[in-house]
Amino acid sequence: METSRRDFLKVATFGGAATTVFGFDLRPAYAQLRELKIARATETRSTCPYCSVSCGVIIYTLGDKAKNVTPQVIHVEGDPDHPINRGTLCPKGASLEQDILNDRRLLRPQVRRPGATDWQDISWDDALNETARWVKMTRDDTFVAKDAQGHTVNRCEGIAWTGGCTDTNEFNYLVVKTMRSLGVCYLENQARV
Ligand code: SF4
Repeated sequence: METSRRDFLKVATFGGAATTVFGFDLRPAYAQLRELKIARATETRSTCPYCSVSCGVIIYTLGDKAKNVTPQVIHVEGDPDHPINRGTLCPKGASLEQDILNDRRLLRPQVRRPGATDWQDISWDDALNETARWVKMTRDDTFVAKDAQGHTVNRCEGIAWTGGCTDTNEFNYLVVKTMRSLGVCYLENQARV
């Protein structure tokens, strides 16, 4: 078959749509190409964090888990086996990869001190210690042992807890146990909305 340079460029440009070129069946090659992009990736099943629908996602990561290798997220898609979304994602969920790989993503705790206009980076140890100190102080200040009628209620009215759709059943179980032990009665989860 005589092939001009123009014909060749046309095939190269529109090759994605062609299945047979110059007598060769390209379908196995395209199938292989699609597979190669995620063939060596690790699949991690997770939940879209954006809204209470809680769609299932698969996150594909490259990296052989060696100590000196930083895993790299290369693709995120809807989980076809998930009963809620069955592989579909709305535009927000479909852009999840950009959220994970965003330069502006916060990777450490921050605090804005009273009166300050800027957020300040702090260590995880400081964040935990400060949170514990504020929880204790607030509970001590707002704990109600008896109500106006003299009934024992032992409740903490100054703290509320709200969870998110990515929290697991086990995590929620521990949260409720912990909050109830402090006397907190205002508990909610975004996924219940
Ligand atoms: S993919 Fe869309 S609908 Fe599903 S949880 Fe995320 S934001 Fe909500």
